[in-house]
Amino acid sequence: MPELIPNRNIEDFSEATLSINLSSIEHNYNILKSIANGAICSAVVKANAYGLGVEQVSKRLVQAGCNNFFVAHLNEGIELREIIGDNHNIYILHGLKRNQQAAFHKHNLIPVLNFMEQIKLWNDYARELSTNLPAIIHIDTGMNRLGLNIADAEDLARNKSLLSHIDTKFIMSHLACASEPNDQMNAEQLEKFDSVRKLFPDIPATLSNSAGILLNDDYHFEMVRPGISLYGGGNRPKNVDIKNVVDLKSSILQIRNIDSDQTVGYGATRTVKAGSRIATIPIGYADGYLRSLGNNSYLHIDDVKIPVIGRVSMDMVIADITGIDNITVNSKVEILGENCTINSIAELAETISYEILTNLGSRYNRVYI
Ligand SMILES: *Cc1c(COP(=O)(O)O)cnc(C)c1O
Repeated sequence: MPELIPNRNIEDFSEATLSINLSSIEHNYNILKSIANGAICSAVVKANAYGLGVEQVSKRLVQAGCNNFFVAHLNEGIELREIIGDNHNIYILHGLKRNQQAAFHKHNLIPVLNFMEQIKLWNDYARELSTNLPAIIHIDTGMNRLGLNIADAEDLARNKSLLSHIDTKFIMSHLACASEPNDQMNAEQLEKFDSVRKLFPDIPATLSNSAGILLNDDYHFEMVRPGISLYGGGNRPKNVDIKNVVDLKSSILQIRNIDSDQTVGYGATRTVKAGSRIATIPIGYADGYLRSLGNNSYLHIDDVKIPVIGRVSMDMVIADITGIDNITVNSKVEILGENCTINSIAELAETISYEILTNLGSRYNRVYI
């Protein structure tokens, strides 16, 4: 049975329902874990589990046997620690800043150390406490976003005192082009990572995000770090049974019959012919239905695809329902789901499924299945 979690502690008249299928997330987790065949399968739950609700998602992943979680911010890690308790590893991708050491320690959070200053902060702090503290060391292999450069990694390997009080759990890197399986950069980064790893021969390694897991076994190492594939987005090769997770449904606010040629919406960007029938649906860019979808997307009523016409407003979007029988204001409209997948809607908006998910609004009734 769906568990109803109303947005607010008041009477709920939400105009749309966002269903998040936790069993599909669990299913996807198990699929990825089996592909990674032997590697630890962690879960990336940064940004409120890609907008889907870090509490519900991570509790379900714990039930599914996940023991390792990644978030980006320290705040996210503190929140997650409260949610899942003390028995699971939580890694903070952004690492630590000055004055955060005690908070990391207190909440038992593991920093990903991305540059020499972060390593020094953590090592010094551990030395003061006369202990060893856990960390992941992130080495850049081509992303040029975070991570030690190769020269620093070599320094680190030569000068053991730099890591004297750090218990290095993993050597990590991140792929820049894994969503393009044929991009030669994947192999180049793999080769670099392999040679960097030789500097730290006894330490386990982690390289792949979701798309990296789907490349091939060479990319799996000792731990993988899927995010988007858990949530039904990203690459979905035909032989991999990744399931949809989100279903966003609304209803129709108003139906109009057009008796002479007319324009619709802001900017009068679209003309509909006399005899058309159009519907206004209470979902707009404030709800995460991106404005770039104006005149450029579709919704679904049962099996019927209906085009979005005119610009997307803050709270509404207009669709052409001309010639489709049986549509009333009570008809359920699929905004995202089996027919309007996050990948296909993202493509129309010239973005990626990640951005569709993380933009999902807060005005929905959220239901966890
Ligand atoms: C966000 C992130 C991931 C997860 O990436 P997906 O493409 O969502 O699977 C993995 N590793 C790092 C370093 C990340 O920042």
